Amino acid sequence: MALATLSLASGALAEEACLYRPVPHEGLAAADSVADYLSTLQTCRNSDGRNLVAIRTMTIDKTPLLLLADSDKLTTRIERAACWTCQAASEESLAGTRYLRTVVKAGEMPGIAHRTFLQNAGLTHGAAQGAFVTGDLCPSRKPLDRRFFEKLMTTGQGAPVALSVSGLWLLHHAADFHWLMEKQADGALDIIWTNHSYHHPYAKGRPDDQTFMMTKGLDADYEILQTERLLIANGGIPSVFFRFPGLVSNSPLMDAVRRHHLIVLGTDAWLAEGQRPGEGSIVLVHPNGNEEGGIDRFARYVDQGTIARPFEPVLAAPP
Ligand SMILES: [Zn+2]
Repeated sequence: MALATLSLASGALAEEACLYRPVPHEGLAAADSVADYLSTLQTCRNSDGRNLVAIRTMTIDKTPLLLLADSDKLTTRIERAACWTCQAASEESLAGTRYLRTVVKAGEMPGIAHRTFLQNAGLTHGAAQGAFVTGDLCPSRKPLDRRFFEKLMTTGQGAPVALSVSGLWLLHHAADFHWLMEKQADGALDIIWTNHSYHHPYAKGRPDDQTFMMTKGLDADYEILQTERLLIANGGIPSVFFRFPGLVSNSPLMDAVRRHHLIVLGTDAWLAEGQRPGEGSIVLVHPNGNEEGGIDRFARYVDQGTIARPFEPVLAAPP
């Protein structure tokens, strides 16, 4: 008994020592502080016998670290590489896991196939009674629309929300980002950081297939990885989800997201577009100050109880 307690305690201690703890500081840290950031696919095991999948390797302050995903729960964490024994894995070897199954399945959901592009590809509906609330933080000159979060927090402690963060939004909203991180730390919100590309280009008036990530010359790998680096540099943990800017993609872009083992997230209830949420809806709003109509509608639906509860974390969306 004493032995078991001791080993449990040392296990917990080891886990503490292994977890990456960013040093909080004023302003923002540069993405460059996360060095050697690369995609990988490795199966890893720690001394407690826990198995996770490493999807990124990196070095911070000369310490090698791993971004690890739980292939069943889809949670992610960053730990010191020294705490894990890893070996290269193939997609085939992980094909039976919920994680890889969903990466592949979402990558094969085209949404609406236009002649030259795909609209709303990926997972658009979740397997639950409640709604999945997602908010896109596209680049914006306006401050974070905190009304949305205040309303969300009235629905209960630890309200789940998937926030699709773009690099350029983060870069210009340090105070708002820190406010969100505080809400996360004190348990008021359960934020899942979804990748929304770094630059998130948008040229008004240009056809959909010539803007967003279909902008000529855009480097999809950079867009994906640089967003994660900036997020990690500032204490956020990237999730395994990706949302296309404007919900616009094509098959090479879908392949790029899949290559980095991310799950493409669409929506079936973009509130500002008048789509009404039902059971299991993946609800989309823009709390970046650019879509007040959607935030108003969200508030009204919460007050009226017409948005299915309990709100579910997006990790529960894939079957
Ligand atoms: Zn966007």
